[in-house]
Amino acid sequence: MVHKNKPIVLTGDRPSGPLHLGHYVGSLAQRLVLQDTCTQFVMVADVQALTDNFDHPEKIRKHVFEVMCDYLAIGLDPQKTTFFIQSLTPEIAELTLIYLNLVTVERLKRNPTIKTEIAHKGYGKNVSAGFLIYPVNQAADITCVRATLVPVGEDQLPIIEQTNEIIRSFNRIYQRHIFSEVQGLISQIPRLPGTEGKNKMSKSLGNAIFLSDTADEIKKKVMSMYTDPSHLRVDDPGKIEGNTVFTYLDAFDPDPAEVARLKAHYQKGGLGDVTVKKRLIDVLEAFIGPIRTRRQQLMCEQEYVKKILLEGTARTRTIVAQTMCDVKEVMHLDY
Ligand code: ATP
Ligand code: MG
Repeated sequence: MVHKNKPIVLTGDRPSGPLHLGHYVGSLAQRLVLQDTCTQFVMVADVQALTDNFDHPEKIRKHVFEVMCDYLAIGLDPQKTTFFIQSLTPEIAELTLIYLNLVTVERLKRNPTIKTEIAHKGYGKNVSAGFLIYPVNQAADITCVRATLVPVGEDQLPIIEQTNEIIRSFNRIYQRHIFSEVQGLISQIPRLPGTEGKNKMSKSLGNAIFLSDTADEIKKKVMSMYTDPSHLRVDDPGKIEGNTVFTYLDAFDPDPAEVARLKAHYQKGGLGDVTVKKRLIDVLEAFIGPIRTRRQQLMCEQEYVKKILLEGTARTRTIVAQTMCDVKEVMHLDY
């Protein structure tokens, strides 16, 4: 499955909840393309998820399976994509420990992504060592399969920087070109807002439409969605900018010409929010419905889903074992 001339991609998710429409536009859609053009590894990052959920391990365990069902239901193909689970790849932990010598504590505290997250989560000075070092763990995730391409949002570029600093230090100190530098595949697509229209869609903010939502849930969520607060009567001219219903139509409606027509009508006045929302409900149901059906089937096939994850992990570990051989050789750890 590793082809000589195809770039190796590493991507993945923390199994801390089911995947939503934001994940679809922000990363899953791209993975469907990458699985045909690259050698793609998708990691279920359960160890990383535990850095801020260590007191709720049962939650992470449950969502490993949920996230795998999401992946398979949207069309990620185990023949093309290798799925693996972080905790069953202990070499990643070993490599993390080796890399930690190459990173200063001050550098970890300066990481802008980490700084923002520490502030958001209110950790302050009580941040755990495990959380603070997760970018080093990510460098190990990426390099253990020798990935050179990592899809990221612009706010995640510090991951790539930190990884490349470690790679450069490692190659320099141990005087062999063991790792090639990594490139971030930067998503140009803006973050999908949540149904309240303020923040990005996020499973922890209660503003998400999940790939597993029922038709009823979709309907309820869309009907309560943020539109244009000054569009009070049907005849009033309405605003499109920041109108989340239109943002979602832009992202999911297969008929952009019709969306353009609706936008013009809405701006002119005479088109009610409910009419536009009803269209969005149909559009989202047409998109999520088939995913939901496949997902329900997969939920009943626990053994099959588990087998895919375990077989992928076994394949990944043969590659990781070779990486560890190279690392240990240059570090005189090849007893
Ligand atoms: P949490 O609430 O736990 O932070 P989340 O729903 O924000 O979870 P993450 O696990 O933080 O999801 O996101 C993983 C990746 O999914 C992001 O790096 C990004 O690529 C993509 N993603 C998540 N939310 C969105 C969104 N609203 N729009 C576009 N992409 C998104
Ligand atoms: Mg998030």
